[in-house]
Amino acid sequence: MLGLSPGGNKTRKLEFLIADALAKSADCLITCGAPQSNHCRITLTAARKEGLQCHFVIEERVPGTYSETASGNNFIFHLMSVDSITVVPAGTNMAEAMERVHEKLRRLGHRPYIIPGGGSNALGGLGYVACAQELQQQFFELGLAIDHVIVGSGSSGTHGGLVAGFVGNNIDIPIVGVGVSRDPQDQEPLVYKEACAVAELFNNVFTIPRQRVVSVGGYWQPKYSLPNAPMIEAVKLFATTEGVLLDPVYTGKVAAGMIGMIREGKFKKNENLLFIHTGGATALHAYESILR
Ligand SMILES: *Cc1c(COP(=O)(O)O)cnc(C)c1O
Repeated sequence: MLGLSPGGNKTRKLEFLIADALAKSADCLITCGAPQSNHCRITLTAARKEGLQCHFVIEERVPGTYSETASGNNFIFHLMSVDSITVVPAGTNMAEAMERVHEKLRRLGHRPYIIPGGGSNALGGLGYVACAQELQQQFFELGLAIDHVIVGSGSSGTHGGLVAGFVGNNIDIPIVGVGVSRDPQDQEPLVYKEACAVAELFNNVFTIPRQRVVSVGGYWQPKYSLPNAPMIEAVKLFATTEGVLLDPVYTGKVAAGMIGMIREGKFKKNENLLFIHTGGATALHAYESILR
């Protein structure tokens, strides 16, 4: 519901990244993602709104999963007429692959601007500092007492930016990031690095205590973007009891993590949990067969 139809967490990051691209007089955007990337779809929406070209490098993280005729976000790539898609195999150095597209466009006389995967750099993380401030304002205005925040943790801009925003604004509420592609030993260092990079944009007037970065694993397996039973349970539960759409790749697994932690007794009965909905429902249509 954030805009850049139909929105999602990348909208917050792109608020800052697109402003930077425009300030640098870019005339095309280059970004990357998986075949059902929400980030690519939202970047393309921003490009169309601002009259910029938009080019994708798509990593086929699960071999054989890219199909030009796929539904979901991929359908929207084509509906909004993306300017080019370069498909590369899993494990490709995405920064280098985007650099090659950049070079090609530059030789054609363009001024391309590269947005990293998920829009997760320091500037993109500012979107979630703004989110932290918006939350804080709503806590005051609505008199909400929140005990724990639960958020998805992937390319880390959302989780890292939120941690930086909470630390910088003295919001003393613990955040748990549910990993969508990595367990804590691999995910937490990435999130910590992102949070520190965001703090650096504030000239380090605050520093990030390492222990503020907490994530949980075990809910993303067997692999990023591949379904599992707890995700299917969560997507159906939210749909049937609240009329809220989750998605199979991110929020479904994150909600499964929240439900799992509740069942394990990680939270007290009277505690208030805030679940940050990061979008993604467009991808539902690409997973209809497993959810029916
Ligand atoms: C990208 C994405 C996430 C993860 O956010 P990161 O900033 O990449 O960690 C969560 N939910 C949805 C729907 C997303 O598209």
